[in-house]
This record gives sequence, structure tokens and C-alpha cells, in this order.
Amino acid sequence: MKAFDDGVIRVEDHQDGIWRIEELYASPGGRGAIWVVDGTERRLVLDAGWGLVPLADHVPALFGRPIVAVASHTHFDHIGGLHQFAERWVHPLEAGVLDDPAPEPTQILPYLLDYPESLAFDPMAGGVGGGFDPRAWRIPPAPATGLLDDGGVIDLGGRRLIALHTPGHSPGHLCLYEAARRILFSVDVVYEGEILDAIPGADIDDLLATHRRLDALEVDRVLPGHFGVFDGARMRALTEVYRRSKAV
Ligand SMILES: [Zn+2]
Ligand SMILES: [Zn+2]
Repeated sequence: MKAFDDGVIRVEDHQDGIWRIEELYASPGGRGAIWVVDGTERRLVLDAGWGLVPLADHVPALFGRPIVAVASHTHFDHIGGLHQFAERWVHPLEAGVLDDPAPEPTQILPYLLDYPESLAFDPMAGGVGGGFDPRAWRIPPAPATGLLDDGGVIDLGGRRLIALHTPGHSPGHLCLYEAARRILFSVDVVYEGEILDAIPGADIDDLLATHRRLDALEVDRVLPGHFGVFDGARMRALTEVYRRSKAV
């Protein structure tokens, strides 16, 4: 894979065989990062974005290797494009959402319809049938082919990531940790913005416990689900801000 930006999709090289794919038609805060991690035998795709535009049309090189796709959780900005991958793993608590990715559990109703600024531009503009209609859109089902619970290992060949069950933002949220490189994929439980803890399925006490667990990890780089990357010290500063905001 190579870094590029064609105005619709951007691929960034994050070194160590790690890339971030971003869907530029989603607003900067609403883009669920699609993280790609290469091992010698397989490629991990962590999360699948909104999926309004086929990745194969823009990043054909992505599909040049065997892929295991992992859904960190089942909000629409992370699983909209999951059907593009044959091998799909998720935490057992959210597997049912992949069978029927309805508007409510995927959160698309409030976060797309109530906040139209979530869409930076209409990816369907000028296409057959006109523009993108959020009310008519349904995320294609993408049933899990594998389940990933706390402690589950993703062996890519030459590198291993461990799944951490990290509820609080959603019941079956997973972070992935690569101990050998001290890298944490924190997805939606720590990032440079307000963590959503008042939506259906969220739980503040669980999120506080998740933060305590992440704070104890040896981490040099944190690759989140939204916004920019940061280091372990910054992660602990962000979790501290959150703790104080909850007065604990
Ligand atoms: Zn998200
Ligand atoms: Zn989320």
C-alpha cells in the first residue's frame, strides 16, 4: 500500500506496517478510522468506516493480501463497510448487530440525521439515483465469521495483537494491543475529543474501569478511532480529564 489522497479516500502511512484509511466524505470528527496492520501472513483491517464508497474502487491494493477484519464495536462509522470483507470478527456482545445493523443500535439515526454536518460532502452526488439519503440508507448485514473476546489473539504472522474487552462506550467494545511494539488501538474509548458515554449501550462506570485498565498498559503510541495519534502520557492525561469531569 502507498499513501495517497484522491479527494474521497486518504491513506496515511503510520510506519511499522500500519496505515490509516480515512473516508473524506465524512466530517473530520465523524470519520471512524480504518486501521490496517500487516503481518507476514495476513493483514488486519480494524474497523470498516461508513462504507458509502467501495474501498476496492479507491484502494485496490488493500485487497491484495488475506484479510481479517475486526469490528471494534458496531456503531455505523465503524461497520458501514464491513461487508466488503469476507472474514469478520467482533465481540460476542455485539455480534447480533452485525446480523441486523439497524439504525438504532448502530447509532446512525442521531449521529447522521440529527447532525447533518457529519457528512462533509455527498459521496453520491451526481451518481445514479441522485444524492445520498440517510433515511433510506441501510448498512448491509455483515454477520460475524468469528468471535473475539478479552485476551483473544490475532496472529498476523510475525506479529500478534491482543484483544482487550473495553466496555463503556459500547457493551462489546474492543481495543487491540500490540505489546511487542507498545502500540494500542484505543478506537472510541480514548481520543482527542469528547468520549460518547450517554448513548444507548454506554456506561460511565465501565468506561472509568476501562480507562484504569488502559492506563496500566505499557504504551508508546495510541492509534484512536477518531482524530490524531498520541503517546501513552497523553492517553493518561486524557483519561484523567475524563475522570475529573465525572468527579471521581
Ligand atoms: Zn466512532
Ligand atoms: Zn462508537
